[in-house]
Amino acid sequence: MSFSFRVTHTDGRARRGVMATAHGDVQTPAFMPVGTQGAVKGVLHRDLEQMGADILLGNTYHLYLRPGDDLIARRGGLHAFIGWPRPILTDSGGYQVFSLAARRTVAEDGVKFQSHLDGSAHLLTPEKVVDIQAQLGSDIAMVLDECLAHPSGDELVRPSMERTLRWARRARARFLTLYEKRGRESFSREGVLVTNSGQAQFGIVQGGTSAELREESARGTVAIGFEAYAIGGLSVGEPTDVMYKIVADTTPCLPEDRPRYLMGTGTPRDLVESVARGIDLFDCVLPTRNARNGQLFTSEGPINIKNAQYAEDDRPPDPACSCYTCRTFSRAYLRHLFRAGEINASTLNTLHNLHFYLDTLRQIRDAIAFRRFESFRTAFHQSLSRHLHDS
Ligand SMILES: [Zn+2]
Repeated sequence: MSFSFRVTHTDGRARRGVMATAHGDVQTPAFMPVGTQGAVKGVLHRDLEQMGADILLGNTYHLYLRPGDDLIARRGGLHAFIGWPRPILTDSGGYQVFSLAARRTVAEDGVKFQSHLDGSAHLLTPEKVVDIQAQLGSDIAMVLDECLAHPSGDELVRPSMERTLRWARRARARFLTLYEKRGRESFSREGVLVTNSGQAQFGIVQGGTSAELREESARGTVAIGFEAYAIGGLSVGEPTDVMYKIVADTTPCLPEDRPRYLMGTGTPRDLVESVARGIDLFDCVLPTRNARNGQLFTSEGPINIKNAQYAEDDRPPDPACSCYTCRTFSRAYLRHLFRAGEINASTLNTLHNLHFYLDTLRQIRDAIAFRRFESFRTAFHQSLSRHLHDS
C-alpha cells in the first residue's frame, strides 16, 4: 500500500478528501493529536481510537534521543512499538532542536546540538533525519527545515529559506535512494533498517512573514517534488491575521491534488479559518497541553475549570459535547479533581479537548460535503463571540 490523496468535495477554497497511507485512510481536513514520545499525554491509544483519531503525530527529536530509532526499528518500527495500528506522521525534529536543545549551531551540513536530556552531542543532517524516520517507519516523514524565531527580518529569513530548500533537495535525494525499490514491508539499505516501505515524505514551505519569500519557497519546494507539502514557521508569535494571510497566499502555490499541512496550529478558530483557506491537515499541542492546565475548549469558547465560579456548577463542561467527560461529569467535579491534583483531571480534560477538536473537524468535513461550510463558519464564530460577550 502506498500514499495517495483524493479530494472528494470542495466548497469555496475548503476541501474534503481522503488521504490513503500504508496504515489506513485519513479523512481530511484532519487534526493529528500530538504523541510526543510515543504517547498522547493523559490518554490511552484505546481512547484515541474510540474518539475517531485517524492519525497521530510523533516527535522525531524526542524518539531519536530516547529510546532511539535503532531500538524502535529492532522492535519492528513505531507502530508495533507503541501499539498504534493507524497512520503516524513524524516531524523532522527540527522544531525541537531549535526550541529545546542547548548550544545548537547551524551550518550548511546540518545542525549540531546538545541533548536537553544528558548534554550529549548530536548532528542532525537532512539525510540523517530521513534515516531516523525510515527506521521509525512512520507513514509520513517530514524534511529537516530551519525554524527561525519571530520576528526575523528578511536579511535573516531569505538565507534561512534558501538553506531549507537546499536541505529539502538533499532530503529528497536520500529518501529516493532508500525507497528506490520498495518491496517487502521492511528491508535494510545503506545501513538503515526501513520499517515501513510505504512511507511518504512531505516538503515544508518556509519564508517567515514575507509573501514574496513564501511564494519563492513554495515554488522551489514543489519543484523538488514531494508526496505533499506543509506550511511551517507559523504560530510562532506572529499576529493571527498575518498567519491567515500567509496561509491564504501560500495554498494557491501548492498543487491541488496533494494534501496541505499547516504545522503546529492552532486554536479552534484557526482550524476553521485555515480550512477556509485550503488547508487539509493540522497538529497542535493546545488541546492536550491546555487540558492539563485546566483549560477546556467548548462550543461557547474556552473555560478555565479551576475558576471559583465552577465550584458548584453542575453542568457538563460543554452541554453540546457528547464525549465521555461531558456525558458523565460536572464542572464542579472536574474543578475539584484539578484542585486536588488528581491524575484523572488531566485525563478527563484531555479526553474532552481532543474530542472537541476531532468533532470540530468532523463538523467541518460534513459542512464541506453538503456545501454549507460558509454557514457553518459563521455559526461557529457567532457561538464563540456570544460567549465572550456574556462573560
Ligand atoms: Zn466533552
